Amino acid sequence: MITGNATAAHMGQEPGTADWRRLWRDAVTDPRELLALLGLEHLADDVLPRLDTGFALRVPRGFVARMRHGDARDPLLLQVLPQAAELDAVPGFGLDAVGDMNARAALGVLHKYQGRALLIATGSCAVNCRYCFRRHFPYAEQTAAANRWHEAIAHLRADTSIDEVILSGGDPLSLSTAKLAELSDALAPLAHLRRLRIHTRLPVVLPERVDREFTAWLKQLPWPVAIVLHANHANELDANAATACARLRETGAQLLNQSVLLRGINDDADTLAELSSRLFDCGVLPYYLHQLDRVAGAAHFAVGDDEARALVNALRERLAGYLVPRLVREIAGEAHKTPL
Ligand SMILES: *Cc1c(COP(=O)(O)O)cnc(C)c1O
Ligand code: SF4
Repeated sequence: MITGNATAAHMGQEPGTADWRRLWRDAVTDPRELLALLGLEHLADDVLPRLDTGFALRVPRGFVARMRHGDARDPLLLQVLPQAAELDAVPGFGLDAVGDMNARAALGVLHKYQGRALLIATGSCAVNCRYCFRRHFPYAEQTAAANRWHEAIAHLRADTSIDEVILSGGDPLSLSTAKLAELSDALAPLAHLRRLRIHTRLPVVLPERVDREFTAWLKQLPWPVAIVLHANHANELDANAATACARLRETGAQLLNQSVLLRGINDDADTLAELSSRLFDCGVLPYYLHQLDRVAGAAHFAVGDDEARALVNALRERLAGYLVPRLVREIAGEAHKTPL
């Protein structure tokens, strides 16, 4: 019970009153400050003055609190700290790694796979992950946010083969719950929709986002809901993230997780096994383990396909089948994520 009380206190006495917007704005954006918070000031002079990666540091303080003090190889730190290696040009790593520019079906809609369409609800994220393909995609022009839902909704209405809408981004939970409600109200009349899916990293990186207003919205949706979280390492899933997952589960939503296989962060069997176990503790099933999208600036995170397969085989030998994620790569132009 001590854990439960501590969690409630940290997340605000009354779930729902924690001001996630304030926590959002209060994120660390200065690499020097991040290193100082972790007792790693001495690294700043080496790497930082030369870095202009064009993709800013951004990380909520609650996520920083889960990093190990004094450890430059901390798996959470490495996900967010700009590195000199990002400036290397590596053949095969480009700007539109997964063919998003060709998959635009309408403003803010990516339609690659049969039956499901992805709505880019916003370009914003609470955290900037160094390996993310988003670092180059021109989201500012491509989101369906603000008052530009119409074209996206019109496409989803017209194509009755779409039975699942995926809210994505950016991170769709960057939007206010009122905005999300506007969106779900606009989708509700579409009789061919059977499911709503939400891809979000916020319950992990800023668990306070899962407040009462948000869970009330989830509960009243007219479709079964799948929420795909994004955690890459068990250390991301602290007591606050677990509380957020519990609140999401109470709404009846199905919780899944996708991870990216990342060199130096989660590229060993012990780490991946612990991630799966910890996810299940939180009521979340592992869904995909993604091979890195080949985006410029992220090549230093890449793990070879043979090594990736060997890792997942090692997981199969030691975990229940439902704790083994599907190893996939996204290949532009394919009809589905490609199993490896
Ligand atoms: C990954 C992705 C999906 C979801 O694919 P699933 O295999 O159903 O998880 C849907 N649309 C787009 C554009 C995607 O990139
Ligand atoms: S889209 Fe997801 S992986 Fe990319 S920066 Fe945002 S939270 Fe990170």
